[in-house]
Amino acid sequence: MRISARYASLGGGLTGVEIAGELVEVLGGENVVIIEKMPFLMPTLNKPKASEVIEKFMAQKGFKIVKGNGVVEASRNHLKLEDSTVLNCDLVIWSVGVKAPTIFFDLPVKTVKRGWIVVKPNLQLQDYPNVYAVGDINHFALDSDCTIKMAEEAILQGKTAAKNIALQLEGKNPIHTHKPIFLSSKPKSLVSVGFNTALMIWENKLLFGKMPYVSKMFIENIVRDIKSKIGGGTAAKLESILLRILSRILSG
Ligand SMILES: Cc1cc2nc3c(=O)[nH]c(=O)nc-3n(C[C@H](O)[C@H](O)[C@H](O)COP(=O)(O)OP(=O)(O)OC[C@H]3O[C@@H](n4cnc5c(N)ncnc54)[C@H](O)[C@@H]3O)c2cc1C
Repeated sequence: MRISARYASLGGGLTGVEIAGELVEVLGGENVVIIEKMPFLMPTLNKPKASEVIEKFMAQKGFKIVKGNGVVEASRNHLKLEDSTVLNCDLVIWSVGVKAPTIFFDLPVKTVKRGWIVVKPNLQLQDYPNVYAVGDINHFALDSDCTIKMAEEAILQGKTAAKNIALQLEGKNPIHTHKPIFLSSKPKSLVSVGFNTALMIWENKLLFGKMPYVSKMFIENIVRDIKSKIGGGTAAKLESILLRILSRILSG
């Protein structure tokens, strides 16, 4: 099979969806294609229904989405997909996610998936009590669940690790366990698709349209400005409370 599009967004994660949404506004849907390896868009949110909402909207704009088919080869004018489909395109936007950098330790460090370091509930490395890993680099598991890689989550993890390090320096046990707010089973996110539409995902609720977009702009442009003045931890809590209030208002 052969597909043609002027612009290809590789990776239908949050970044790929947002970029494609903006390209569609400027260039028209027929010129843009998203290629996603997993069977649905935004797989980190683990919400096939969220993918369906975006796909329906994109379909109305004449937009192409290829799912369950990863890119295996990239050359000057085309891409080749896992099932041998060839995609002709002029521009490729590579947004296939973040991978942990390789760091060499004296002893082996347990990692999973894309090199994420497995940590204990207090954020210490399993076999290195003097080493902590916080934020995107770690894999923080809670029963069968795990955290999503978000800035707010990283900030809160940093606070917990700092408290534990302080205890260790006093010769005490690092007993503070991290209480995650962004878990894979309860995703919270605002994803824009174009210049005036967004999808709000708040655990099991989905809200799509202009109001989530206005909320996103409010949080990104006003709340984050306030955040830079009042500090990360307090601001992360403020943002979380605001999102909670918004989700209640929007869902009636
Ligand atoms: C496009 C995009 C949009 C996002 N939007 C949002 C959002 O709206 N809301 C939200 O909450 N989160 C968002 N995120 C996620 C958020 O950016 C991350 O969760 C957050 O930055 C994680 O913080 P961190 O400190 O763990 O990692 P990072 O912010 O990635 O910082 C890691 C730092 O370590 C440096 N580094 C890497 N390797 C080494 C090395 N070997 N030695 C020394 N330094 C090294 C890197 O250069 C980098 O500066 C977004 C991410 C992306 C990519």
